[in-house]
Amino acid sequence: MSEEESNQENSEQQSETAPAIDGEFKAVTPADILGGETCPICSTKNLTLREEELEIPFFGNVYVFSMSCSNCKFHKADLECKDQRGPAKYTLDIDCEEDMKIRVIRSSEATIKIPRISDIEPGPAAQGFVTNVEGVFSRVKQRLEHLKESEEDNDVKKKIRNMIKKINRITWGQDKAKLIIEDPSGNSAIISEKVKKGKL
Ligand SMILES: [Zn+2]
Repeated sequence: MSEEESNQENSEQQSETAPAIDGEFKAVTPADILGGETCPICSTKNLTLREEELEIPFFGNVYVFSMSCSNCKFHKADLECKDQRGPAKYTLDIDCEEDMKIRVIRSSEATIKIPRISDIEPGPAAQGFVTNVEGVFSRVKQRLEHLKESEEDNDVKKKIRNMIKKINRITWGQDKAKLIIEDPSGNSAIISEKVKKGKL
């Protein structure tokens, strides 16, 4: 059995354990780590809380919080901007490989929309993260791969496979796409001169 097959049952959990922070950022304060806390899911004392303040260039300081349980693998990460910005919608037109490097900050309250491909919904199970456009696409791709594995209908499987192919072309700069982030909490952003920022 391949590793992929044996991990199928944990697919949802797995797709949620992508790192909260992709890349190196200057920590404004050393990370505050508190271990041995009670896990809200399995109730054992294996939960580690982590909090740190990072400086994101051309943006500002962001507090990143996370909870991880070594027993049941529960993981939740979220973030909050130091400066309050208000509800906002960011729209980015992606048309070259260089756009993959554009920084994206997403709080768990934000909806990420990639028209004609996939959305990432907010909610209690949603994760906050600091990444770039490529990181957003790799998260979407990972979800689609898991979806494809569990899908029985061949037509749907084929549709998902085509979406994955489209994502690959976009990340190689061979296809265009739109990336939209809407966050009523104002804690998300796409950091680029190309981005259009509007009201929600
Ligand atoms: Zn647990």
